[in-house]
Amino acid sequence: MDRAQDGRETPVAWCPSGEANRPESVVLGVRSGDGDQVVYLADPVPAADVLGGIPEGIAPSRVLRFASHCVSDCANRVGEACGLIERIKVVPAGTAASAVPRCHLRPHCKWWGQAGVEACHRCPAVSTLNSRDDELTVLVADPATTREQLESWVAAGG
Ligand code: SF4
Repeated sequence: MDRAQDGRETPVAWCPSGEANRPESVVLGVRSGDGDQVVYLADPVPAADVLGGIPEGIAPSRVLRFASHCVSDCANRVGEACGLIERIKVVPAGTAASAVPRCHLRPHCKWWGQAGVEACHRCPAVSTLNSRDDELTVLVADPATTREQLESWVAAGG
């Protein structure tokens, strides 16, 4: 997955809230059940293999979560770090999870490398697409939102 053409390993980080249509994109998991929680696939499946099977009119991100390379021109980049997972971390995890999900992306995951289990406890509830157009989702998704704004929102009980 992260191998250069000359065979050497390259340190490519992967975004677990990635794009569906990049050449390297893979399916990370399937949205399922209450709140569109993600059920992770045991092995990566190329996104290109499944996109054609999604009915017209349904956004692929509505039913699947994708992973793609973490890129330097991403709006969420803060230097080398991901600003999105830093915002997500401010929001309490929905349940007091003790175990992290089984996930094929972990060895390459930008969020895991940056935030560890704090990221994994929140990851299943993250929406690539704002399917629930609620205020918190919009705030977290906005790269302009500050940590202080999120903490105020959480403290106020939403
Ligand atoms: S944050 Fe954790 S659960 Fe989510 S993709 Fe990364 S390693 Fe997997």
